[in-house]
Amino acid sequence: MGFEIGDAKKDTTNADTVTGGGAVADAINGPEDSNVAPNEDHPTGGSVNVDGAIGSGDAGEDLHIEGEPIVDTKAPGGPIAERWDKRRFEAKLVNPANRRKLSVIIVGTGLAGASAAATLGEAGYKVTSFCYQDSPRRAHSIAAQGGINAAKNYRNDGDSIHRLFYDTVKGGDFRSRESNVYRLAQVSVEIIDQCVAQGVPFAREYGGLLDNRSFGGVQVSRTFYARGQTGQQLLIGAYSALERQIAAGSVTMHSRHEMLELIVADGKARGVVVRDMVTGEVESHFADAVVLASGGYGNVFFLSTNAMGCNVTATWRAHRKGALFANPCFTQIHPTCIPVSGDYQSKLTLMSESLRNDGRIWVPKERGDERDPREISEDERDYYLERIYPAFGNLVPRDIASRAAKNVCDSGRGVGPGGLGVYLDFSDAIARLGQPAIEAKYGNLFDMYKQITGENPYEVPMRIYPAVHYVMGGLWVDYDLQSTIPGLFVTGEANFSDHGANRLGASALMQGLADGYFVLPNTIADYLAAGPFEKVDDKHPAAAEAVQQVRSRIERLLAVNGHRTVDSFHRELGHVMWDFCGMERTEEGLRKAVSRIRELKAEFWSDVKVTGTGEELNQTLERAGRVADFFELGELMCIDALVRRESCGGHFRAESQDEDGEALRHDDQFAHVSAWEYTGNGRPVLHKEELHYKYVEMKSRSYK
Ligand SMILES: Cc1cc2nc3c(=O)[nH]c(=O)nc-3n(C[C@H](O)[C@H](O)[C@H](O)COP(=O)(O)OP(=O)(O)OC[C@H]3O[C@@H](n4cnc5c(N)ncnc54)[C@H](O)[C@@H]3O)c2cc1C
Repeated sequence: MGFEIGDAKKDTTNADTVTGGGAVADAINGPEDSNVAPNEDHPTGGSVNVDGAIGSGDAGEDLHIEGEPIVDTKAPGGPIAERWDKRRFEAKLVNPANRRKLSVIIVGTGLAGASAAATLGEAGYKVTSFCYQDSPRRAHSIAAQGGINAAKNYRNDGDSIHRLFYDTVKGGDFRSRESNVYRLAQVSVEIIDQCVAQGVPFAREYGGLLDNRSFGGVQVSRTFYARGQTGQQLLIGAYSALERQIAAGSVTMHSRHEMLELIVADGKARGVVVRDMVTGEVESHFADAVVLASGGYGNVFFLSTNAMGCNVTATWRAHRKGALFANPCFTQIHPTCIPVSGDYQSKLTLMSESLRNDGRIWVPKERGDERDPREISEDERDYYLERIYPAFGNLVPRDIASRAAKNVCDSGRGVGPGGLGVYLDFSDAIARLGQPAIEAKYGNLFDMYKQITGENPYEVPMRIYPAVHYVMGGLWVDYDLQSTIPGLFVTGEANFSDHGANRLGASALMQGLADGYFVLPNTIADYLAAGPFEKVDDKHPAAAEAVQQVRSRIERLLAVNGHRTVDSFHRELGHVMWDFCGMERTEEGLRKAVSRIRELKAEFWSDVKVTGTGEELNQTLERAGRVADFFELGELMCIDALVRRESCGGHFRAESQDEDGEALRHDDQFAHVSAWEYTGNGRPVLHKEELHYKYVEMKSRSYK
């Protein structure tokens, strides 16, 4: 008997009540445990065994509980190329006249949420959408620069659906599901057609066909782009489609509303509690199903390339209500970001991966060589990616490029302040193609670099260093994108579904739009066909309790009235996460991190200073709520990283590397998704979903 959807029934208690283990955990551990993590429920917590033995024997047993495996992901069987068709055919349909009786809440208006809302609105469902920005069009997706993948094979360079599938499974280091990835590759082709029909101005070749460029981890050109603003153009397309539905009355939009709780009534997701960020009013909204398209949580590291507002609250609140959280430690560190320049910085800037098409990455061969890069001759330079990985060169996947940059900097050959930088050099490309050609392709990125650093990258090589960029982890979903709470669907970066341990460049936009335009509209219909469900309103005990949870949490945050700013806590948490759960992780470091995060969390709940009131626009309060959730998430990330005693993709355990220093997977023990159940007692329950590979041979990745 394995873990099934709806099994985890967690945290329907008041935030002030001590919560015990979930249904599964209770059976094993009892609702109370001595090793309690401090959180809003437990301001003080238990201790962590920091001196725990290092080595393969210590699997972090004191920090987690093994639960039942997940045995069914709802993916159909049969030949992989037919599975999505099969699922669509077998899914129940809702006739158009019945759709207007069915309602859906969608949290998020980025590419994943806007595309879903527009499509479901057009189909005739009653949709209510939320975002915390002042306009849906300002979702973080707008920041995406480089492009979106699709297996169109316009270049006739050997691409196909199967190759995109193969590259993605391999790129994810064999930690994603074959069925999901194949579907993603199939749907990719339709996305481009849909976006072109909306008027998205993709770059074109001289002949008129859409142009393509290459991204890391592949040897074909399949990335469609609109200069360095692909996300913005795609979002304008999705936003236009959404606005059309808003005007038609099928979508009701609530911007500047932050979801702070999920309402789970009678075992189903039936609504959300939101705070009007302008007036402070706490409201509840109800529907037959809820979709979270709330983006990624990279800002747990404080410094990242994400928009400042990106956070985990929507998914974390759902996690506390029973949704399993999958692979939380799988973080993408992007190799080409502008290096950190000082202690007071609050944001990092990405230089798109597309730059690796023409830029060459190098460091001086000699340690401590501080000469102007233009004075360093060719034979004094180490183009280390081209040297170590000749087959893929500068276009190796992000995890590999990031670690290689770290290694050369650790060996003392890094450049710029603190030696934490490598060069990304366009002099060859400019000599070969001319500056106008480079300007046409990357002009806005070069301008951005110049504005931030004061250096002209047409003349001097850019300096870049890896930074947190994307999270592969997220809420666990089945093939239908449904979480372990019936009626709660999760799309885009907020779910964990398709990228395994490492996402290939230009695949997030593809996934978000695949989920929103094509996958969810089919699978959610199958669920809604059983509706409309029994009416739930403010009087339902689950709704009243969720509202109360939100109110008391706000009151508690305001009542602490301590001495430290929210940002100072966030910054310190970020340091802990980067140092111990960043590019390289060790058992000892992860144990220290769990311990320190627990201390910090306790300090936060006793010493944070949240100014203002709850009945007004209060950004400090907003940030405080998000940082409180980041503490709990950060702890789970470290436990997840500790328990996974292998290196794979973005997760590099120093104890698990081969003689060349490359990541060493342990497929015999860790070829699974780690799906975590919330217990609130410092020992989350781990449910494993075994991964099976039939269409791509599971072997060590090689980009040499
Ligand atoms: C600088 C940068 C460049 C990138 N470039 C590329 C690229 O070229 N190609 C590529 O494929 N990927 C790229 N990515 C990744 C990609 O942009 C993201 O993964 C993707 O846009 C996420 O889309 P999303 O719709 O899932 O979430 P988002 O766009 O983050 O949208 C989240 C939405 O949820 C809402 N929300 C969140 N929490 C709440 C809450 N509690 N209450 C109410 N609303 C909430 C927000 O208001 C927002 O509307 C890039 C990422 C960065 C940081």
